[in-house]
Amino acid sequence: MWPRNWREQLPATLAGDWDIVIIGGGITGAGILLEAARRGLRALLVEQRDFAWGTSSRSSKLVHGGLRYLREGKLRLTRESVQERKNLLRDAAGLVNPQSFAFADYRGRKPGRWLFSFGLALYDGMAGQRSRRYYPADEFLLLAPHIERAGLKGGMCYGDAKTDDARLVLRVLQEALAAGGIAVNYLAATQVLRTGGNADGVELLDALGGATYTIKAKALISATGAWADDLRQNATAGPKLRPLRGSHLLLPAWRLPVAQAVSLMHPRDGRPVFAFPWEGATLVGTTDVDHGEGMEAEAAITPGEVAYLMQALEFQFPELGLGLDDIIATFAGVRPVIDSGKADPSKEARDHAVWLERGLLTITGGKLTTFRLIALDALAHCAPLLPRRQGRAPASRTFRQPGPLPANAGLTAAQAQRLQGRYGMHAAELLAAARRGELATIAGSETLWAELRWAARAEAVVHLEDLLLRRTRLGLLLRQGGAEILPRVRAICQAELGWDDQRWLAEQAAYLDLWRRRYSLPPRDTIPDWRAAALS
Ligand SMILES: Cc1cc2nc3c(=O)[nH]c(=O)nc-3n(C[C@H](O)[C@H](O)[C@H](O)COP(=O)(O)OP(=O)(O)OC[C@H]3O[C@@H](n4cnc5c(N)ncnc54)[C@H](O)[C@@H]3O)c2cc1C
Repeated sequence: MWPRNWREQLPATLAGDWDIVIIGGGITGAGILLEAARRGLRALLVEQRDFAWGTSSRSSKLVHGGLRYLREGKLRLTRESVQERKNLLRDAAGLVNPQSFAFADYRGRKPGRWLFSFGLALYDGMAGQRSRRYYPADEFLLLAPHIERAGLKGGMCYGDAKTDDARLVLRVLQEALAAGGIAVNYLAATQVLRTGGNADGVELLDALGGATYTIKAKALISATGAWADDLRQNATAGPKLRPLRGSHLLLPAWRLPVAQAVSLMHPRDGRPVFAFPWEGATLVGTTDVDHGEGMEAEAAITPGEVAYLMQALEFQFPELGLGLDDIIATFAGVRPVIDSGKADPSKEARDHAVWLERGLLTITGGKLTTFRLIALDALAHCAPLLPRRQGRAPASRTFRQPGPLPANAGLTAAQAQRLQGRYGMHAAELLAAARRGELATIAGSETLWAELRWAARAEAVVHLEDLLLRRTRLGLLLRQGGAEILPRVRAICQAELGWDDQRWLAEQAAYLDLWRRRYSLPPRDTIPDWRAAALS
């Protein structure tokens, strides 16, 4: 991964001309870096904040074919997505895991059993599987307990998949680094440089030391997601992005126990909402609203969105009596969709878009699931600018397969697979680096203490928020962002990152402040009473 003190070598690392420079360290940029490095190209990725800091750590975390694409008649996109899902389930087991979904069938509610079954038959057919099954009400209630019983006729179950999105980015970056790619976080592209009007380089600003670098590249790709218009020359004349926010809640599994994902149509607007088990908690999402705020600060849930999601929970799980005290954390992501001026944000298309504008290739939109295909598309567009190299990417294996972990580590089979999925070829090193007691899980999560140590040591952690919000997801899974475990995290950070007391206190204060502002609930008195909100 990133060797100790790697940042001190930055000027030497960045020296020379590059075949390809990728701006943006989300899943799109990471996927392109991997494919470029495997082709033997000299490839650099720069990320203005932390890897996966943008939308790629704030998605709904589903690796799915996209039932909505099917509804929109986009059969090719659905087929490609289910194929990618299949590959990821095979190659990244433990990081991308099967997730079964349950959808209740109520008298008088849409979509009814037959329409839904038809869609799922197509969906399954494209994946070459048969995961769907209809259950009568009494059996369905065993699979989806606590749901509203009035009018329940039965329900449908079907198979999809889920992941930890930020870890998926890290795993792809890990593979890219192993193939010779370079990835640097906290290094922003401040300006695209042009010769004769054509982009052929970029100016970079190191957010840590303030140093600037001028880099030349044969191909320049902006994989900057919802920030893409900032670097485009044509952003005012050409197609524009419409940033849409989607927000989520995390609740303890014991308060909202779902053995599988429960999806429903929101009573207010008929949009799909789901609750599913994720990393030991229950994740609820999502909303779909115009972001309407600048992109400099991290997106956060608004009071209205909290009420919207709580209203969906109240509607589907009335007997649980869920309230604001049950919410552990919140997070919000911004989706870049191409603005076609539709009144309803949910009607805007979510396919990825590629614009080649005077040497700068912008690739934005799309989804986590199809990152490999998006990367191939980006490289195909850049092919005329790039030298032909000998390195070839394996046809469909995105990830190298790690060997078995030592049996004496005392891990369960599920824990071993989890580590192999997340850390790939480094899983064994992670275990070897663990100190006494660090193979225990951190209460309230599925994370091992050893993961914190490994991430701090080898995964380019710069700030405490990188460690707690993206390398691990403890900031989302533990109350108050994990304030209780901070003394032990401190010992790890001080040993692995060389932080003195002053640095630790500054990092801790910044992290807790960020968590309060962006990952907790808005002030209670601003949240509308969802029980009183109109249902239509
Ligand atoms: C609410 C929500 C739910 C979603 N759920 C799913 C889901 O369940 N499944 C799925 O497959 N997809 C889902 N998606 C879509 C998916 O999350 C996105 O398509 C994907 O994360 C986009 O990745 P990206 O790399 O293009 O963008 P990002 O992850 O946003 O990465 C862009 C990066 O570029 C960086 N950047 C910007 N400007 C600069 C600059 N000047 N210099 C350097 N770096 C810069 C940013 O800091 C950012 O990190 C969801 C999206 C949203 C919003």
